[in-house]
Amino acid sequence: MTDVAKRKDVAPAPLEWEYAPAPEARDIVRFEERYGLFVAGEHVDPKSGQWFATTSPASEEQLAEVALAGAEDVDLAVGAAREAYENGWSGLRPSERAKYLFRIARILQERSRELAVAESLDGGKPIKESRDVDLPLAAAHFFYYAGWADKLEYAFPNRRPRPLGVAGQIIPWNFPLLMLAWKIAPALAAGNTVVLKPAETTPLTALLFTDVCRQAELPPGVVNIITGDGSTGAHLVKHPDVNKIAFTGSTEVGKAIQRELAGTGTHLTLELGGKAANIVFDDCALDQAIEGIVNGIYFNQGHVCCAGSRLLVQESIYEPLVSKLKRRLTTLRVGDPLDKNTDVGAINSKAQLERIREFVASGTEEGAEIYQPPCRLPEKGYWFVPTVFTNVAQSSRIAQEEIFGPVLSVLTFRTPEEAVEKANNTAYGLSAGVWTEKGSRILWMTERLRAGVVWANTFNRFDPTSPFGGYKESGFGREGGRHGLEAYLTFD
Ligand code: NDP
Repeated sequence: MTDVAKRKDVAPAPLEWEYAPAPEARDIVRFEERYGLFVAGEHVDPKSGQWFATTSPASEEQLAEVALAGAEDVDLAVGAAREAYENGWSGLRPSERAKYLFRIARILQERSRELAVAESLDGGKPIKESRDVDLPLAAAHFFYYAGWADKLEYAFPNRRPRPLGVAGQIIPWNFPLLMLAWKIAPALAAGNTVVLKPAETTPLTALLFTDVCRQAELPPGVVNIITGDGSTGAHLVKHPDVNKIAFTGSTEVGKAIQRELAGTGTHLTLELGGKAANIVFDDCALDQAIEGIVNGIYFNQGHVCCAGSRLLVQESIYEPLVSKLKRRLTTLRVGDPLDKNTDVGAINSKAQLERIREFVASGTEEGAEIYQPPCRLPEKGYWFVPTVFTNVAQSSRIAQEEIFGPVLSVLTFRTPEEAVEKANNTAYGLSAGVWTEKGSRILWMTERLRAGVVWANTFNRFDPTSPFGGYKESGFGREGGRHGLEAYLTFD
């Protein structure tokens, strides 16, 4: 028996399992030693003369060197996008645009194993997630928007849609290729050209995507990829010839971008942080809810803007639920992202690991009770044990701020009214979850929850047809569905 199994508050695990290693072969992906910027269909050295290393967060090994785009490089990329927009793409027959998007979707499917391995190596997420979630969804977004490209007048009846022009797109490190797809697919379908900046710690799948564009024979300059750091993103935001900025990332940077663009006429959509309430009523299917809770917060190491990081449990089932949850945590496997049995991979960067540690220390200092299952972590790399805090005050930092790590805060409620009040007691409004067997209660809750997405008896489900976005400090604008197209169009 393990130490955990002996504890009174945790029911014993049914059996001890030892999993044999099941590594995904990494030789399917071969990185270049160095990647330049992708501008006008060519890989070019940066005018800035600067490069930086991208590393694997699981092993700390360097995977490649990547260009750091400065102001002049951003200017060249925007110029290439403008030229492609004026001299071809915006005037192309919509069914031709659709053809390119379909090709990209199919190539993503064909190369999905290679791209999934690259994603897990560069970002640290478990291969079963990049293989089964990120890649299929990225391809699905291109398929979905390919279908709309020649049907825009049906998507927006009685209105005459026109593209905006050049879109500057800035994406984070938690779903690198998927966020790329969320941004590029609707922009191109609507007839825009793009300059995309991936996050500093996860540039490699965006760079491999340049080869997908080449294979699809996408005209040069329609997609430009510029790697760099926050300063590169800031240059892109400030560029006077960009018609639209689409940003996904932290609320702090989102606010700075909004300030920068105020009064300029540049279109803007912001998809920012979250502190979602996952609300569990006493009539729910408890075992199913436990899986939903685990998926809600430990999926992708909790690096998920819509993660169910605040668990609201009805008091009458608090004890059995917490006991089952703790037991379930003892079965999560933390480790090598390329192992097919891994549930929780590496934390994306050292900086993010330090941020999580600091939050967890503040939770303990503020009087919450911490539970972490016994867990052997690899010696190298950045790791954090899946963590649950109980006895959490609503006002504490771990209940209010986005941790963006595998850390769950548990609070309780007695009535549906109290659940709504507590769930909405946040600066954010991106997502929420409701677990109950009563359909009427789901509808009652959904009407009252201030969240862009409300999942019922499930969590973290995504579909390209469904709009996604937030209220309050979670940003504005929607991605996905027809709403996602509208964000890249203007109307006569
Ligand atoms: P950022 O918001 O800094 O990063 C998001 C993207 O914006 C990256 O591509 C980043 O570039 C770029 N960027 C950074 N500064 C600027 C700027 N001034 N102008 C334009 N673009 C900029 O998030 P962090 O990576 O710093 O993460 C910090 C915290 O933010 C996390 O702990 C988490 O709480 C939250 N976060 C939330 C996300 C979400 O989807 N809700 C996603 C990512 C983070 P670069 O990577 O090169 O710095």
